[in-house]
Amino acid sequence: MTDAPEIRIGQGFDIHPFSVDPARPMILGGVTFEGFGPGLAGHSDADVVAHAVTDALLGAAGLGDIGSHFPDTDPDLEGADSIELLRKAAASVRALGWEPQNADCSVVLDAPKLAERRGDMEARLSDALGAPVTVKGKRPEGIGSLGRHEGIACWAVALVSQAHG
Ligand code: MG
Repeated sequence: MTDAPEIRIGQGFDIHPFSVDPARPMILGGVTFEGFGPGLAGHSDADVVAHAVTDALLGAAGLGDIGSHFPDTDPDLEGADSIELLRKAAASVRALGWEPQNADCSVVLDAPKLAERRGDMEARLSDALGAPVTVKGKRPEGIGSLGRHEGIACWAVALVSQAHG
């Protein structure tokens, strides 16, 4: 056996309802969708994509979940930029000796359309993670709460490997 680096996978899920505030911005993967409203409701900026990726990353490193690191009862996190929370989570993961390798996510929604902003979302998420992040959009096909446009959900996976000294 060679001493191949240990690898771990993590899975993340998040869902947020649409806000009733028409002025609430829609932020997905660190990208603001200008002219689309209302955005998602939540204590932070409600970036459901960044949250799912963060949870996947924390899970991969055995670091718990996003709520334990960034509680939604913390007044300092009201309106927080979730890309920065992902960046902090990546730093915590590295401090434990794990190096993020990539993350991939599936966002379930009809609108806004992701295609035109996919590259921007991937660039912002990848910059925060320090590793490639890919984003895919998937329609809910009219099924259930997501099909009734009550909110947006995101599933993500992330891989980390042991950083050998
Ligand atoms: Mg969330």
